[in-house]
Amino acid sequence: DDIVVTKNIDKIYPNGCHALKNVTTNIKRGEVVVIIGPSGSGKSTYLRTLNQLETITSGSIMVDGVTMYDEGTNINTLRENIGMVFQSFNLFPHLSVKENVMLAPLKVSNRSKVEVEEEAETLLTRVGLAEKINIYPTQLSGGQQQRVAIARALAMKPDVMLFDEPTSALDPEMVGEVLDVMKSLAAEGMTMVVVTHEMGFANEVADRVLFMEEGELLVDDIPENIFGTV
Ligand code: ADP
Ligand code: ADP
Repeated sequence: DDIVVTKNIDKIYPNGCHALKNVTTNIKRGEVVVIIGPSGSGKSTYLRTLNQLETITSGSIMVDGVTMYDEGTNINTLRENIGMVFQSFNLFPHLSVKENVMLAPLKVSNRSKVEVEEEAETLLTRVGLAEKINIYPTQLSGGQQQRVAIARALAMKPDVMLFDEPTSALDPEMVGEVLDVMKSLAAEGMTMVVVTHEMGFANEVADRVLFMEEGELLVDDIPENIFGTV
């Protein structure tokens, strides 16, 4: 039951940079796939093509049975199904934590305000921030802000969550609290695609690890075969 399928995708940026070369991947429902590789190898570009933050030059992408770029495929519907968490948290500073989480579902879903608010409180409790719902992002630590960003992405009830180096901007003591939230999401069966340098997380949580280099997918294997068994 594949939820994300990319077939022979290539990405050439307008400046000529060939960031993805013939990348074919399939991600099953409920799988946690971790992408590793040197800086500039195309990891972030790959992730961004999955919700069409980047267009592809050739190949095809299917998410949840819907083919991107097909006539009649609504990009907004497709994006609502894909949550994304970035390296920098990108929260709205003038909105409270709870308002940040409520914003997208209020805009695009038919759910009532009360329903969206209750859901936001539930999600913020789930990421350990029940006490912080009414304060502003600038009053939070980096790790707390990133947990708000995760709750905000979850508020759209996505089928897939994408994480682009979610702990890279954090002070070391805050990395664990964000990885713990990601681990619990994985345990609940969320489909996740994670670009990270956290090899412990990859080894412990990933069902599969993809290794990229110079735009190519060189390895697609279970963590045991990549990191060895301990
Ligand atoms: P990674 O995430 O593995 O560090 P990226 O996907 O960010 O790699 O980048 C892959 C390659 O594409 C790099 O050579 C990078 O410089 C280039 N690149 C990324 N974004 C752009 C862009 N917007 N325009 C041109 N080149 C880009
Ligand atoms: P990351 O590896 O996390 O994507 P980068 O530093 O490679 O971070 O890229 C930061 C931003 O700059 C991204 O939006 C990327 O698309 C853009 N970028 C990266 N390389 C280039 C490039 N050669 N030309 C134009 N934009 C680029």
